[in-house]
Amino acid sequence: MNDKTAVITGASKGIGKAIAEVFAHNGYNVVINYNKSENDAVLLKDTLTKQGCVCEIFKADVGNYEEAKGLIDFCVKKYGKIDTLVNNAGISQIKLFTDITPSEWDNMIKTNLSGVYNCTHNAVKYMLSEKNGSIINISSMWGIDGASCEVHYSAAKAGVIGFTKALAKELGLSGIRVNCISPGVIMTDMMKDFTDEDLELIKQDIPLNRFGTPEDVAELALFLASDKAKNITGQNISTNGGQVV
Ligand code: NAP
Repeated sequence: MNDKTAVITGASKGIGKAIAEVFAHNGYNVVINYNKSENDAVLLKDTLTKQGCVCEIFKADVGNYEEAKGLIDFCVKKYGKIDTLVNNAGISQIKLFTDITPSEWDNMIKTNLSGVYNCTHNAVKYMLSEKNGSIINISSMWGIDGASCEVHYSAAKAGVIGFTKALAKELGLSGIRVNCISPGVIMTDMMKDFTDEDLELIKQDIPLNRFGTPEDVAELALFLASDKAKNITGQNISTNGGQVV
């Protein structure tokens, strides 16, 4: 077992999976949260364990307070504490604002914003008793800039940025840092509905002329969790190739 422990929500695939891999390879016990993709989570656990890493998987819908509590309690029971929480789990949907139904609105806010509250609210009580902790929220550049046809997504992600700044001010004296990463376009399943033509057009808008990778986000999260970032709290860092500055 390692000295440090991290919970990564939505770590069965995409960005969360890369964060789990990077943390596991850098001395953390990792709890890999998933909701629907059990096979992917089991495969990730098997692979990391074979590589000598320490990890567990835990099924929880972060939008459900009791399930989020179960996730955090599981981590503390298994590893004795929680040093880092990465609130990564999220969904997206592309739809005209006028077509977004009340239940689609509620589901977006429940998963992408209330999910951050649910996990953080449960983790903070343990972090307070240690007077130590790092919380990293994954927002989006659209939470800064707003995306047409993603009003509910942009609103939830903007909420995550406000949540980060406010909580950082409240918890600073307790030794808990709270930061946010707002990625630009990262090639994961979330981008699978875009055609090659759409992607080419998007890329032309990115000064660095590249899409981000899950590893770009994961390395930034590892840095923010580490002592190298001990003077950083309440910040929102956007890894987006310069698309939003
Ligand atoms: P992804 O490949 O679709 O993965 C999403 C992950 O979230 C999956 O592991 C999924 O788990 C999990 N998840 C979804 N709903 C959940 C719930 N209710 N409870 C627990 N886990 C849940 O997406 P991604 O691109 O890696 O996105 C990860 C985060 O980055 C999201 O917050 C997203 O908004 C943000 N982001 C992505 C991009 C991008 O371009 N890809 C850009 C900016 C921000 P299951 O499959 O097990 O349900």
